[in-house]
Amino acid sequence: MTRKQRIIQTAIKENVINNNLTAIGIMDFNRLDKTVADVYASFPENFTHTFAVKANALVEVLKSLRESGMGAEVASPGELLIALNAGYEVENIIFDSPAKTIDDLKTCIKNGISLNIDNLQELKRIDELMIQYPNTKSIIGFRVNPQIGSGKISSTSTATATSKFGYALNDGNNKQALIEIYKQRPWLKSIHTHTGSQGCELELMAQGVAVITELAEEINDVIGLQQIIRLDIGGGLPVNFASEEISPTFKLYADILQKVVPLLFTGKYQIKTEFGRAIAAKNGVIVTRVEYTKTSGNRHIATTHAGAQILTRTAFLPKSWPLRVTGYMPTGEERTSHISPLVATDVAGPCCFAGDLICKNENLPKLEQNDYVMVHDTGGYYFSNHFDYNSLPRVAVFSITGEDDDLTIKCIRQSDSLEQVLNKM
Ligand SMILES: *Cc1c(COP(=O)(O)O)cnc(C)c1O
Repeated sequence: MTRKQRIIQTAIKENVINNNLTAIGIMDFNRLDKTVADVYASFPENFTHTFAVKANALVEVLKSLRESGMGAEVASPGELLIALNAGYEVENIIFDSPAKTIDDLKTCIKNGISLNIDNLQELKRIDELMIQYPNTKSIIGFRVNPQIGSGKISSTSTATATSKFGYALNDGNNKQALIEIYKQRPWLKSIHTHTGSQGCELELMAQGVAVITELAEEINDVIGLQQIIRLDIGGGLPVNFASEEISPTFKLYADILQKVVPLLFTGKYQIKTEFGRAIAAKNGVIVTRVEYTKTSGNRHIATTHAGAQILTRTAFLPKSWPLRVTGYMPTGEERTSHISPLVATDVAGPCCFAGDLICKNENLPKLEQNDYVMVHDTGGYYFSNHFDYNSLPRVAVFSITGEDDDLTIKCIRQSDSLEQVLNKM
């Protein structure tokens, strides 16, 4: 039996998915630990790894990542709060929002939270704050957009010529101006780029990293000493949503980086990564119950409780974010094509718009009422997003811990039933 079969059977046996709780998220903490171990094993010791909190903003998940040695990358007061609640020390947090207010900047600099500057107007604000807090422990760098082009998904491509992120390196005289900026500010000790995301080729990402590495070398040369000590190479390792295979691996990315930018591996610089999706996605699933089935125009429709409210990207952009599903019978046994004939199926969500589908026209073993549907690879940017969870009907999140033959399931985020909501009024 696969681990996922054991997980769903544990969830059924422990009655965590029932009439009131009809869609749940499950994070596999054991596999999460293994993923982080894999990250650390793939890169040398001068690499430190932070987790992009937006990918999975659950305190228990962040705690577990902290215990495995990761830092936290945050971009809003809410994410900072979540990271602090998970026990992160300020020196292991980096604040990366492109829209930092004066108060945000002041709080970071006063408290030693590192940050990356997005633009020249932000630099001006920081110049003033540095007069007030000259001894800050914040490590400050510029977010540079190397303008190397787009991957396959434009909404997650951060390094296009016109990207909203960072300082556009190739426009006009910008590069020379940036070298001057570093030269005049000994406290600029880091440089950052985030070149990848879902849909980007690893070579393209490595090329972006090469650009900022060369830039750091050039700046240090001009200054005549190693002022820049840290290269923050961002996250954005793509995830394979098409099968159980982990591809690309962290090791493959490390190998490509080593080939394209060998300097990263010499220990000359501290290298910081900010992986999000590649840490979280494959370690979480959504399990939802089939409330009803019917046939419309030759299409088998299975209506579940997981739709746009927890599968937002997929519901609105199904071509960019397709997800895999597996059906299980009420006993927890997989519904295979030996048991039920394959039929063209739409697996639908509970929201009141027609596009609210988990998948469309997929050939699946025919789902029946009261079956369960597992939606794979949803541990990042799906049920874990930090919307106010009371506005999300019936989504609780559970942790799975332990080895295959000894799984424990525990609730790490509650959800109210209708009855409980009424009783609260
Ligand atoms: C979103 C984000 C990440 C993580 O991106 P993934 O694609 O989830 O790996 C890292 N760094 C910054 C600055 C981000 O905004």
